[in-house]
Amino acid sequence: MRFILFDIDGTLLLPKGVGREATRRAMLEVFGTAGDINGHHFGGKTDWQTLCELLAAHGYDAARIGQQMPAYEQAAARHMAQIIGDFPVQPCPGALETVAELRRRGLPLGLVTGNVSSIAPVKLRAAGFDPAWFVVGAYGSESADRNQLAFLALERARRRLQRSIAPEQVVIVGDTPADVACARALGAQAVAVLTGFSSREVLSAAAPDALLDDLTEFFKVVPLF
Ligand SMILES: [Mg+2]
Repeated sequence: MRFILFDIDGTLLLPKGVGREATRRAMLEVFGTAGDINGHHFGGKTDWQTLCELLAAHGYDAARIGQQMPAYEQAAARHMAQIIGDFPVQPCPGALETVAELRRRGLPLGLVTGNVSSIAPVKLRAAGFDPAWFVVGAYGSESADRNQLAFLALERARRRLQRSIAPEQVVIVGDTPADVACARALGAQAVAVLTGFSSREVLSAAAPDALLDDLTEFFKVVPLF
């Protein structure tokens, strides 16, 4: 059995700027500033990490941001719901089909995403995914460190599915070197896709187990594992 964990942005869907705008609005509401958000690189980062980077110059450390996280999550979800219709959020090539085929084969699916937990389902629905297709998730509101999220997701899957799952049975699919690093930290297989925010050179250098142009190639490489 394989347990497949998907990143969201750049892997399952293209957010087309809605994440940056919802983050900006929620940060202004909760922290009074969005820092240098226009110049911020989001790819591969947890939202908690993003908040740390943008707010460090404004006197916020990770612990203080953690205290505000419930308020931030509420604000982010509200702003995201208000504006998402104005952005052409779309699924990545082959993503809906790959998820549908994995479900047809009875493989459990999960999410490891830098998105805060309140945002992830809004984005997924906008791109045509039902959040319920993913039996567990670990989110960027739960740790600033993406690597920790993989361990959280696996632990939740073991409890939810009531069976043992070894790290080497896990496949983490993502679009940045941070997703590959997250798979390595867990001892999982790393599948990287070029549909997101990293170049071929950068992703190759991260040495994933497989590097795909997009998810239409997913089932060509899965038998390799
Ligand atoms: Mg991503």
